[in-house]
Amino acid sequence: SSPLDKEQMQGLRGIREFLKVRTSYDVLPLSFRLVVLDNDLLIKKSLNILLQNGIVSAPLWDSRNSAFAGLLTSTDYINVIQYYCQFPEEIDQVDKFRLSSLREIERRIGVVPLETVSVHPMRPLYEACRRMLRTRARRIPLVDTDDETGRETVVSVITQYRILKFIAVNNEQHTVLLKKPVRDIGLGTYSSLATATMGSSVLDVIDLMVKHNISAVPIVDQNFKLLNVFEAVDVIPCIKGGAYEELASTVGDALSRRADDFGGIYICGEDDRLDSIFDTIRKSRVHRLVVVDDDSRLKGIISLSDILKYVLLFGEEEDDIRQVGTMI
Ligand code: ADP
Repeated sequence: SSPLDKEQMQGLRGIREFLKVRTSYDVLPLSFRLVVLDNDLLIKKSLNILLQNGIVSAPLWDSRNSAFAGLLTSTDYINVIQYYCQFPEEIDQVDKFRLSSLREIERRIGVVPLETVSVHPMRPLYEACRRMLRTRARRIPLVDTDDETGRETVVSVITQYRILKFIAVNNEQHTVLLKKPVRDIGLGTYSSLATATMGSSVLDVIDLMVKHNISAVPIVDQNFKLLNVFEAVDVIPCIKGGAYEELASTVGDALSRRADDFGGIYICGEDDRLDSIFDTIRKSRVHRLVVVDDDSRLKGIISLSDILKYVLLFGEEEDDIRQVGTMI
């Protein structure tokens, strides 16, 4: 292997060692707020609460049993939309659904419920990362047990972005070693890309996200030039106030409803390297990078899970992976 390969491997090992000696708790800022929603809340009301707080997800609390009841994410709203599409005559019903009905909705539309995973905040961060990759969860709640009452408490939620940012901020000595172009390390997806145009309906795009099990669809023009990205979280403002009929409107309309503080989309080229991607993650709230050529034509997409997977697993012995797999 070339010196470049050696350095790359050295960087990756450094990061993996770091993740093994830090805990999920270390990722949390000194002070933070956590919005937890009661499972009895109407789904319709939960939308406003998320929007008002500028968040896209929240842990659910079952106050009857004083227990953690899962994580509310944009996938749940997409499920509600699918339910509405399958049973349009039940729109009045849809308005009366509570967060506790989400499992029933999953069952009725026939989707496999996401595994409810959580990790203990004091376990190694490496373990949380492996569990995220294994279950494809994009965020994991940190659940602790109260010593006195023996009850579960949700401490916080860690996301792929927070972990990657934590790596970026604390591992500059390792990330500078990651000098191989993303093209050479095969980071991201470059074929069978799911795309849509500004004139596509929001429902069509949601359909693509469900079918491909992805959280974003690049929006391109007729020459495949990148115009924008429609993200799973963009459905939240679309159905605010129970206006499900607006889902028939265009992606262009929906994207104009984005909050003023929308962070923008991030692009890179195939010659870019992971060290510069980590620079971007260090500075900005990145959810994915869209790979474009010099004419801004869409080439590929690099998700945070692609990055996390590469950082954790590239070059690992199969045996090691299996061993850790059974451990977690
Ligand atoms: P994340 O898990 O970080 O939220 P996604 O669910 O969007 O990311 O991505 C899951 C996988 O699908 C990744 O390997 C990513 O490269 C790929 N992918 C993401 N978006 C698309 C798309 N529009 N078309 C094809 N593949 C995609």
